[in-house]
This record gives sequence, structure tokens and C-alpha cells, in this order.
Amino acid sequence: MTEEMLNWIRGLIRDNKVHEFYTSPVWRRLQVQILKENHYECERCKRKGLVVKATTVHHKKYLRIHPELALDQDNLESICERCHYDEHHRKKPGFTNEERW
Ligand SMILES: [Zn+2]
Ligand SMILES: [Zn+2]
Repeated sequence: MTEEMLNWIRGLIRDNKVHEFYTSPVWRRLQVQILKENHYECERCKRKGLVVKATTVHHKKYLRIHPELALDQDNLESICERCHYDEHHRKKPGFTNEERW
């Protein structure tokens, strides 16, 4: 990603406006691309042998901690509602759910 983009994301994190990243055209476009590449299947469920529809794309390394990986395909995974919920709410007790997506 460009320096400009990274500075923009860092600014959003600093100002607590990360939702602006998640509603930006650049993210939406990438999200659709990742979902398409994975045939709209949840990658985590797939590893368990299940076919579940992915509804969103998750940052394996959280955006707030690694903004430089925000648009890095290796850091993104297509994921279903359930797995995403587990990731952000269950497996990490004490996680404040700041990322939300
Ligand atoms: Zn899943
Ligand atoms: Zn997530």
C-alpha cells in the first residue's frame, strides 16, 4: 500500500474512526475480491471440512495493531458470521472488540 494510504489508516485509528476504513471503496472492493477468490466460503470452516458461506473478510493481524497489513491479501481471510464472532468475542477473553469487523 502507499504511504499516503497508511497515513490515512493510522489517522483513522488515532481518531477512533476505523469504521471509515471499513466503509471505504478501497476496502469494499478488496473485500469482494477476497470473497470471490474463496468462492464465498469460510476459510476456517473449510479447514474443518465444512462448507459455510463467508459474509465478511477478517484481518488476521488486527487492523489497529498492523495498519500496514490492512490491504495485504496474506493477512485477510474470508470468514463466516459465526467464526468471526468467535474470533472477536470468545477466544480472546478481555478483548474489547474495538475492531468490530
Ligand atoms: Zn466459519
Ligand atoms: Zn475481524
